Amino acid sequence: MNKLIYLDHNATTPVDKRVLEAMLPYFSEKYGNPSSIYRLAKECDFAKERARKKVADLINASPTEIYFTGSGTESDNLAIKGVCFANRTKGNHIITSKIEHHAVLNTCKWLEKQGFLISYIGVDKYGIIDLEELESAITAKTILISIMHANNEVGTIEPVEKIAKVAGERGIYFHTDAVQTAGKIPIDVKNMGVDLLSISAHKLYGPKGVGALFIKKGTKIDSLLHGGHHERNKRAGTENIPGIVGLGAACELASEEIKESKNIKALRDKLEKGLLEIIDDIKINGHPEKRLDGTLNLCVKYVEGESMLIHLDYKDIAASSGSACTSGSLEPSHVLTAMGISPEVAHGSLRFSLGKKNTEEQVDRVIKILPPIVDKLREMSPLYPKE
Ligand code: PLP
Repeated sequence: MNKLIYLDHNATTPVDKRVLEAMLPYFSEKYGNPSSIYRLAKECDFAKERARKKVADLINASPTEIYFTGSGTESDNLAIKGVCFANRTKGNHIITSKIEHHAVLNTCKWLEKQGFLISYIGVDKYGIIDLEELESAITAKTILISIMHANNEVGTIEPVEKIAKVAGERGIYFHTDAVQTAGKIPIDVKNMGVDLLSISAHKLYGPKGVGALFIKKGTKIDSLLHGGHHERNKRAGTENIPGIVGLGAACELASEEIKESKNIKALRDKLEKGLLEIIDDIKINGHPEKRLDGTLNLCVKYVEGESMLIHLDYKDIAASSGSACTSGSLEPSHVLTAMGISPEVAHGSLRFSLGKKNTEEQVDRVIKILPPIVDKLREMSPLYPKE
């Protein structure tokens, strides 16, 4: 598998070797239950609290504002349902966007069935939230706004500081899903003005199945899991110590390495330019500047994204079409259609997401490999206008 060119870092990242090393002792040497009182257990409890501090440091929060969860999805669920249940007497209206990850969208859809009203705000052609629409959607019953920090498919970075200001001035809680930004761009929860922020370890070179939720001190929120007094009564269940240690180590590394994304941007730009020069009828999706450095989403007209992915896979290139969770479905991407892209064009979407180990040689190879694949598929496509 060594020659694999992995360009799907928005789906997941490999565990950094240093993260793995930090985790290993907590499987079978330091295996204590952190709630027990002897030294073996206390060692695990201390490791958990050290990890909490590292997560807090990455986003300029206080460690007491960090709660460990089982995934980014669980962090989103806890933030949204937790705030809704705890503030139901105040109101039953939530504002989110049409381009959220399904962890947010399907949570909101479920809440609709429980009697909550949801406004799904639109975006412009770059995927930026319509702030005016957001402001005019606010009612006396609005208790929560949940807008993602950056979109997983197109990489567009949302104006979260402005949204936080709008929410704060009206006493509405603001949650942001920062699963795609934590570790990639600097986050300061205080400057941002958010009340709740979701993180997932496997997007920043940590292990899968562990996440964190920042909950600003004083936020009224219910827990979803009931049992023991873990995570200060917010999330019952014996903690995943190796995973939490891994998340902490990944956050610590990210704090040190965040500047290196300049290199990722240069590679992404090279890939974008190279493909634009060779393949006609392609469209770059997402904001030209306000975009995650490693994300390149494009629509190749007249061909299916899935077909390109299969051909790329034969050539040992791993990429994605839409988000990992929706691939396999025949629906065009809800993000691209919300951006005004027609379903036919959206079907031809490809997402390359670069990470810290990608090289210029790899990018050159993709620029060489993809154009003949597109030519071949277009030849076979009934949609492609042939002279
Ligand atoms: N939110 C966003 C923006 C994501 O990209 C993802 C994963 O793709 C998630 C939430 C879900 O995170 P997890 O895979 O940890 O459940």
